[in-house]
Amino acid sequence: MAKSTRYDTLFTPIKIGPVLAPNRFFASPHSTGHGWTEPKGAIALRAMKAEGGWGTVAVGLTEISPNSDYANHPMERLWDDSDVPRHSLQVNEIKKHGALSAIELGHGGMQSRNLTTGLPIIGPSNLSVLRPEIPSQSRAMDLTDIKLFRNEHKAAVKRSIKAGYDIIYVYASHGLSILSHFFSINTNKRSDQYGGNFENRIRLLKEVLQDTLETANGNVAVALRFSVAEPDKPNGISHQEEGRDAIEALAELPDLWDVNLSGWPKDSQTSRFADEAFQLDYTNFVKTITSKPVVGVGRFTSPDLMLSLIKKGQLDLIGGARPSIADPFLPNKIKNNQIENIRECIGCNVCVSMDAYGVPVKCTQNPTISEEWRKGWHPETPPISSNKGSHLIVGSGPAGLECAVTLANAGHKVTIAEARDYIGGRVADEATLPGLKAWERVKDYRVYQLSQKKNAEIFLSSKMTLTDIEEFGADTTTIATGATWRHDFVGSTNFDPICTKYKNILSPDDIMLKKFSCPESTKLIIYDDDHNYMASVIAEKLLKEGHEVTYITPLPTVATWTQYTLEQPAILERLKSCGIIFKLNFKINKNLEFLDTINNEKLKINSKDLVFVGGRTPNDKLYKKYIKLHAQENIFLSGDCLVPSTIQAAVLSGHQVARKILSRGKSVLYSMREQTIF
Ligand code: ADP
Ligand code: SF4
Repeated sequence: MAKSTRYDTLFTPIKIGPVLAPNRFFASPHSTGHGWTEPKGAIALRAMKAEGGWGTVAVGLTEISPNSDYANHPMERLWDDSDVPRHSLQVNEIKKHGALSAIELGHGGMQSRNLTTGLPIIGPSNLSVLRPEIPSQSRAMDLTDIKLFRNEHKAAVKRSIKAGYDIIYVYASHGLSILSHFFSINTNKRSDQYGGNFENRIRLLKEVLQDTLETANGNVAVALRFSVAEPDKPNGISHQEEGRDAIEALAELPDLWDVNLSGWPKDSQTSRFADEAFQLDYTNFVKTITSKPVVGVGRFTSPDLMLSLIKKGQLDLIGGARPSIADPFLPNKIKNNQIENIRECIGCNVCVSMDAYGVPVKCTQNPTISEEWRKGWHPETPPISSNKGSHLIVGSGPAGLECAVTLANAGHKVTIAEARDYIGGRVADEATLPGLKAWERVKDYRVYQLSQKKNAEIFLSSKMTLTDIEEFGADTTTIATGATWRHDFVGSTNFDPICTKYKNILSPDDIMLKKFSCPESTKLIIYDDDHNYMASVIAEKLLKEGHEVTYITPLPTVATWTQYTLEQPAILERLKSCGIIFKLNFKINKNLEFLDTINNEKLKINSKDLVFVGGRTPNDKLYKKYIKLHAQENIFLSGDCLVPSTIQAAVLSGHQVARKILSRGKSVLYSMREQTIF
C-alpha cells in the first residue's frame, strides 16, 4: 500500500523532554474499566492502540496510595512495589509496537472513596466529599499530611520509573484530583500558605510538579494534565483568568502540557451537544504561552482537521480517548491512506456509561474493545475460518450490518435483504433526530466496508417472508429485523398493557417515520418510561417544530439513564431553553390519568396527542415461523429482535452471531477470566 504524503506532518516525531514520540497521535489517559484487578484485559486493550499506530499510549488514572482508594471504581494502582511488575508488563506490551508509554499518577482527594481502606478522605478543607454516595467529609490536611502526600507522590513516581514508563503525569484535571481541589476556590477554604490567593492555591500543584521533575531527573518526561476551564461550575476556573494564570505560572516547567476542560461531562461531551474540536475555544491559547509541546482533545476523528491543528501550531499532539477506543488503528489507517476505513467515534458515550458501572469499556463502533485478551478478538484481523459459506442476513440495522461485515471480512459470501428502500435500520432513522446526525457513522462505516467486497450484496425493498428464506437456501440465515416501539404503556415501570382510548397515541417510530403530522402549536405530552435519550430528542424535535410539549415521567429525574452518558445536565438545559414543561413523578394509570407517585394527586392536563416512549417489541415473528418448521442450527437472531437494547448492544450482537457462525456454533460467550489461582 502506497504511503500517504499528505498527512506526513502527523507522522513526524516530536521530542517530549528526554523522550521522542514517534508521531503526533497520543492515546489520552482513560480508565478501561478493567482496573488493577483485570490487568491482562487492560494491557491488551492499550497494546492494541500501540499496534494501531498511536505513538504514545497513556495509562488512565493510577492511584498513588491507599488513601486515594476509588474502589469499586476500577482504576489502576501503584500503591507499593508489589504493583510494579504488572505495570512493567504493561509498559513492555505498549513499547513492543514502538510507542511511548505514559502513566497518569493521581490522588483523588475529595473524590476518593476509601471504602476498602477505611482511611480518612483528605483534601484542602473539612467539607463534604465530592461524592454524593459517600456520607462523609474530607479531613483538612495539615502540613504533616501535605508532606506525607508529597512523599507518597514521589514514591509513586519512582515506582513508575522502575516500571519503565517514558512519561509520568502530574494530574490536576476534571475536579478528580487533590491538586485541583487545592487550586479551586470552591474547595479550598484554607487560610495558611496553601489557601487564599492564587499563589497559595497553586502552591501544592507547583511543589508536586517540581518533586516529580526532580525525581525524574531528566531520565523520563513529566507531563502536566490541567483543566484550563470549568464551564459548568459556579465560580469555576476560567481560561481567561486563573486557568490562563496557571499556564503562565508553570509554563516552562512540565515537558508536556495535556490540557482540557473540567468536569468530565464538559471534557467528554457527546456529539449531540458538541462538535468535533469543541475544546479548542478554551485550550488553543496554551501554545501561545509555553514553548513545551501541548496535547489536547476534542473527539478528533478528521485527519484534515488534525493536520491543520498541527500545521497551524494550535496543538503539537492530537489527543484521543474515545477516537482511540472506537478505532485503535486510526493512525495506521491515516498513514496507509485508508481514511474511509476509519471507524469514527459517534460521540454517544456508551463507553463512558461502562465506566460508571465499573465494568470493562464497551463501544458502539468497536465491538472488539475489551475482548482483546478475554476472547482474543482483534478489531482489524478477521476470525480465521476455513470453510467458506453463503449467509443471508435479514435486516440492515446495526446488528445486520455488523454481522455481514464480520462474515464478509472472513471471506464468506453475504447477502443482506432489507425491507425498506434505505439501509441502516434504527441508526438511519435516529440520525434524523436533532443532534444525532453523527450516529449515521455506524451505518456509513459498515456500508463502505461491504461496498469494497465482491462477496457482499445488499438488496433494498426486499421484505423477506418464510418462503423467501427457504427459497434463498443460504447456509445460515440471521434475522436482524429489529424491534418496534410499543404504544400500550408497557415500559420500565409498568409491565401490564393499558388499553387506550386515546385517539393519538404515538410512538418514536411514528415520529421518526413521519406517520404523524399536526398543525404547529399543538399541545403534546411525551410520557417517558424508557428513561434513555429517546424521549428527550423527540421532545426537542417537537419543540423545535413549534409544539407545546409537556414531558412527564414516573421517575424523579429527566432522562434518568443519561446520567451515565454524562448528558443529563445538557439535556435539561437544552429542553428548558426550548420552553418545555417538566412533570416529574407522575405515573399513568389504567384510566390514562397521570397520578403523582408521592401524594396520588391527579395532573390536570389537556392534550389529545400523547407520545409514549417506553418498551419495544422484538420483531421476531419470522424467526418463530421458521423454527416451527426447520431445525434451529442454521438460523440466528441478532440485535434488537433478540433483545431490544442500545445500538452498541445491537452491533455487539451482530458481531457475536458472526463469530458464532464462523466458529461453527461454538459459544462465543466464553471468555478467559482473570482469576487468582490457589
Ligand atoms: P438492529 O438494531 O437490531 O440492527 P434495526 O431496527 O436497526 O435493528 O434494523 C432492522 C431492519 O430490519 C430494519 O431496517 C427493517 O426495515 C428490516 N426488516 C424488518 N423486517 C424485515 C423483513 N422481513 N425483511 C427484510 N428486512 C426487514
Ligand atoms: Fe465513541 Fe460511542 Fe465508542 Fe464511546 S462508545 S468511543 S462515544 S462510538
